[in-house]
Amino acid sequence: MSLPETTPKFTIHGYGSDEILALNDLKLKCKDTIYKGVHILEEAEATGTQHLKTEDICVEIDKLPKYICKYISTVALVPFPCPYEEDGDPILADAKWLKMQVTIYAIPQDRIVLKDALAHHHTLAHEAGHIIDREIMQTKRQSSNYLSYTPRWVKAMCEDGRIKRTGLNMSTYLVSQYAEKRQSIGEDFADSVKYFSFQEGRVFLKDNFPNRYKILEEFLEPKTQ
Ligand SMILES: [Zn+2]
Repeated sequence: MSLPETTPKFTIHGYGSDEILALNDLKLKCKDTIYKGVHILEEAEATGTQHLKTEDICVEIDKLPKYICKYISTVALVPFPCPYEEDGDPILADAKWLKMQVTIYAIPQDRIVLKDALAHHHTLAHEAGHIIDREIMQTKRQSSNYLSYTPRWVKAMCEDGRIKRTGLNMSTYLVSQYAEKRQSIGEDFADSVKYFSFQEGRVFLKDNFPNRYKILEEFLEPKTQ
């Protein structure tokens, strides 16, 4: 994966919770860089608690297909940890569908470790999945707020459950070990979008979870992009 050729230009703004939903009462002076249509927000005067930088997000944005990237309006690199955790593990990112915003929280690890985590987990694609789950239903004006909670998705999950898996030790009902661990249909959807976002993942999803694949193909319409 190549680095962005030039460092994109940025402007500096004071942002509060109107702009960055995770802030609560805090105000942040931010570098706001628009890269491929996504606002990347980073502390203008770094306090050193957030080790990831704007360039690290650019690298991840470069990997996203346009039809997924367009659902992210902002990636906010905040200088504090996520207020909640999962089974004692710190949370690196979450999605606020209201503003199509991905928040990247501060985790006290080396930048290289965090960069690897973003790449390895396809964090942006997964979080975009949470936004898509909701956003697609807003535009289709359907009764459910989330695509993952429609009978169609649930039916696809049931049908995919009958398919013989290509790998051993694979989850049987939900699309990933992570979704299985969380026992969450929302995570099932987000991880399905994650797989859909990169070539090997797409093949994996198509082979093992073809009914989910068909829904994503239809809704995300990559063929027309
Ligand atoms: Zn998630």
